[in-house]
Amino acid sequence: MRFSKMLVPTLRDVPAEAEVVSHQLLLRAGFMRKSTGGMYSYLPMAWRVLKKIENIVREEMDASGAQEIMMPIMQPAEIWQESGRWGAYGAEMIRLKDRHNREYCLGPTHEEMVTTLIKGDVRSYRQLPLHVYQIQDKFRDERRPRFGLMRSRDFIMEDGYSFDRDEAGLDVAYKTMYDAYTRVFNRCGLKFRPVEADSGAIGGSGSHEFMVIADSGEAEIVYCNDCDYAANVEKAELHTIKTADEAALPLEKVETPHCKTIAEVCEFLKLPVEKSVKAVAYDSDKGLILCFVRGDHEVNEVKVINAVGATEVEMAAEESLAKAGTVGGYMGPVGIDLDKATVVVDQSVMEMHNVCCGANEEGYHMINVNPGRDFKPSIVTDIRLIQAGDPCPHCGGKVSKARGIEVGQVFKLFTKYSKAMNATYLDENGKENPMVMGCYGIGVSRTMAATIEQNNDKDGMIWPVAIAPFHVVVVPVNTKDAESTAKAEEIYENLRKAGVEVVIDDRNERPGVKFKDADLIGYPLRVVVGPKTLAAGNIEVKARRTGEVRMLPVTEDYVAAIKEWLQAL
Ligand code: ATP
Ligand code: MG
Repeated sequence: MRFSKMLVPTLRDVPAEAEVVSHQLLLRAGFMRKSTGGMYSYLPMAWRVLKKIENIVREEMDASGAQEIMMPIMQPAEIWQESGRWGAYGAEMIRLKDRHNREYCLGPTHEEMVTTLIKGDVRSYRQLPLHVYQIQDKFRDERRPRFGLMRSRDFIMEDGYSFDRDEAGLDVAYKTMYDAYTRVFNRCGLKFRPVEADSGAIGGSGSHEFMVIADSGEAEIVYCNDCDYAANVEKAELHTIKTADEAALPLEKVETPHCKTIAEVCEFLKLPVEKSVKAVAYDSDKGLILCFVRGDHEVNEVKVINAVGATEVEMAAEESLAKAGTVGGYMGPVGIDLDKATVVVDQSVMEMHNVCCGANEEGYHMINVNPGRDFKPSIVTDIRLIQAGDPCPHCGGKVSKARGIEVGQVFKLFTKYSKAMNATYLDENGKENPMVMGCYGIGVSRTMAATIEQNNDKDGMIWPVAIAPFHVVVVPVNTKDAESTAKAEEIYENLRKAGVEVVIDDRNERPGVKFKDADLIGYPLRVVVGPKTLAAGNIEVKARRTGEVRMLPVTEDYVAAIKEWLQAL
């Protein structure tokens, strides 16, 4: 390609709206332009990268026995009503009506669509297992679209769905996809980690997320320093902390003026924070939820949602607290009417003795509270958020925290959709059974952004060869010098004919401008052709990632040398 003819509108300045480096560089390097909030047009450079990621995904999916299909983006409301998700999906779903006033959505995902499709044509055990996938734009009206392609409202996803006769079949499909996704992200050149993920109401260890390790990641993961345990913090389980036995003292209400935070209360009462219990309250579709954890612990919202079976929670309003007979800053489990609020208490709190907690009255706390004696919760379970230094749930070693970008997820659905939507098959004995399903997704456009997050420096992007938009840029440094310019054209032609993906920066620009753009776009190799080096019989080739420079004699097989170098990068 000739750079002078390409639509690569590079910018000199960092666009003000972009906070993370991938967003900044995608705009600056002329890879994409914003259309409206969370929606982007991909320009040729980005589109080439996306196609390459898609092709890696396609190759690995096909090699795993999955078959590519394409389903409509627009989906009728009826199938979502059938699964029960038309209401549950909430504001994230983009809904629209046709001229007959029938309701539709733009697919945020395709479980309903694919289940409807497959149940129409698959009737017998002989047709299973089956795995279909597609690569397509998905639409989610995210509450906070941000960070460019990391969280957009229109994004490219590979979504696959497996159908099996039984759970043993699903286990095989799941493992096959886990391995295929691992290969995909390895081939993309990413540093990533599969982690145990929350599988919501379905529970169990039925899901993994593939996390690209990056400080800009929105997800938090924990990993064990001693074994291979790794999990999303949302999911990471914790064992109960046992506390030494103590004689129960009489319950007492004490005045704690102006002590709203747990730190202030403990300071005032001269109590260690491990002797206190703190509260977090949520309003939800299941009513008010009052959660209690040890004073120095944090509440894990996802665990609370799963424990209560809620779909959505938000911080409780003061009036909800008032209705349940409590008040912000002084909430406690003692005396709460369980008909007015669901009281969820962390398992470790139940082991504590003589603790301090709010008295449900402005300016007062209770001391010598003994769980069991002084209150009975609605639910006792693990609702604590894991922290760095906590014991690993598998081996007891210490866990560390890191940030990650979720680029993919694999999920055992079991019979959630097949039962709700009546997707059955007849087994060997002519008996009807629900199909056992799995679903698998890769964020293709987010993967491009994640790659940039991991591969950049102050000058721009540094593409791994496998998904670079082009492999080589040839830069004639002096367009007024006919001889070296002609040589650059010849080198460009030779590389092109040999199948190297190459650009010639034939613009009538100063060398400094061309070098800056080459670094910004991040081609793995840059070939500089100028009168001086040519006079010495050489071309100068520089690797973007390492900065290594090699002088290659023009009289020798520089094409082979460049190809070899690309292979080694
Ligand atoms: P997140 O937790 O980041 O919102 P998710 O778990 O809701 O993502 P999935 O339903 O698992 O997303 O979708 C599969 C993949 O699609 C994700 O792993 C991610 O790579 C990608 N993806 C999801 N939402 C977005 C988005 N808003 N923008 C870009 N990619 C996305
Ligand atoms: Mg996910």
